Amino acid sequence: MSICPKNKTSKARRDKRRATWKMSAPNLVKCSKCGELMLPHRVCKACGTYNKKEIIAMD
Ligand SMILES: [Zn+2]
Repeated sequence: MSICPKNKTSKARRDKRRATWKMSAPNLVKCSKCGELMLPHRVCKACGTYNKKEIIAMD
């Protein structure tokens, strides 16, 4: 048996839910090494480091 919702989600409730997550700017942090804006918890694209360690070798 699969999950079955007990109550129908109304159009207003469904649309309200979708309206909240649609417009959210991606939060960016500054790289600790080069100061470039980057996504948090990801390797910096500019210098290839994460947590002050070089992950990707840059030329
Ligand atoms: Zn960087």
